Amino acid sequence: MIFISSTAFANPYDDAMKEVRVLSDSSYVRLLPFGKSYQNRRTPAFAISDFKSDCREKTRVLICAGQHGDELDPTKSVLSFCKSLTIGKHNDLLQRCVIIVVPMVNPDGVAAVRRLNAVDADTNRDWIDLTTGETRFVNGIINTWKPHLLIDVHQWNEASLTPGNSIEIPSCTAGSHREAMIAAASRAGTNASLHLVECRSTSDRSLFHRRYGALGYAAYLLETEVGENFNIRDRMYKAAILSLIESVAGSSGARYVMSPAAMAFTPASVSVYLEPAPADKQTDFYGPALLSIACIILACLMRPFARKETTTWCRRFIMCDIDPELRSDRFVHRHVGCPITSRSWVNRRLRTKYAPIDEKKDKTEDQDQSLSAANIKSLLRETAGSF
Ligand SMILES: [Zn+2]
Repeated sequence: MIFISSTAFANPYDDAMKEVRVLSDSSYVRLLPFGKSYQNRRTPAFAISDFKSDCREKTRVLICAGQHGDELDPTKSVLSFCKSLTIGKHNDLLQRCVIIVVPMVNPDGVAAVRRLNAVDADTNRDWIDLTTGETRFVNGIINTWKPHLLIDVHQWNEASLTPGNSIEIPSCTAGSHREAMIAAASRAGTNASLHLVECRSTSDRSLFHRRYGALGYAAYLLETEVGENFNIRDRMYKAAILSLIESVAGSSGARYVMSPAAMAFTPASVSVYLEPAPADKQTDFYGPALLSIACIILACLMRPFARKETTTWCRRFIMCDIDPELRSDRFVHRHVGCPITSRSWVNRRLRTKYAPIDEKKDKTEDQDQSLSAANIKSLLRETAGSF
């Protein structure tokens, strides 16, 4: 598969939104209410699952990308991963999980290809204070969905002190929680060729994964080396995401050990998104078919009336004694349903066309024309013999 370089996009936000629109056509995708940025861009968010099966007990996963608008590969890779889900590449996963995706947390930053948002705030330093609309929007999703697993996808755009290709876990104090978090990260690291990094207790706690880790969620940060090839990044992100999901969705026991905060989830709060999909379109076929049959029957029932009208029209047409040549006139045929009266356009047209040739006859037909007494007498004399 050939991937186009990120720099080739004129506006990465619009390109990503086009992909979201395509994804939304899939029966596996349900759009969540979108957020709104400072520059009035939409912050897309959607859930992916097999909605034919019961979703209330499934493992809930949140994947975020695009916090830093100059890190375009995570957004591209996450959307590519979503596409692979919608074309049935991981059906078993969709049977067990509801995957919620916010591919561009910072839409204005992505549109401008800059790290900060439109009010110069770094969203990934704002998860404690929640001063920006971007963080409040995602925080609302987390509070509602209480995900078992949170994955925040980034890329290094400058040299880092820690290994560039890495999976980072927040500092965990509880024994079993910490063990489970490290075990899942180790597996993901092995599968995706990422170094495992555990942040120190003194590290900035306002980052996404650190904040939600402290709140009792299984939260991970994925990073890739500065200048890394997109294809390599893409493989790393996807392998790590799949591995983490497998670890958390593996058993209900594991997910509650790793993400105790997720236990507070109430399906009723998002029941509209978890409801089973409506029946297959196969049954929808009968509706239009029955309507068509009803229309045909109605048309058959109305046919005698239609004939009657045509007959009336024809009689009037003949009574007008119009030149047969005119019956093939395209205007007359086009208005075949319009009866001819003294005021109708056909009558006016006939008068205009035939008056110079048969003026006397025209006078007898034209009810609108005022006749002088002399003309009437003359006319009566001429027509008396006809009856
Ligand atoms: Zn970043």
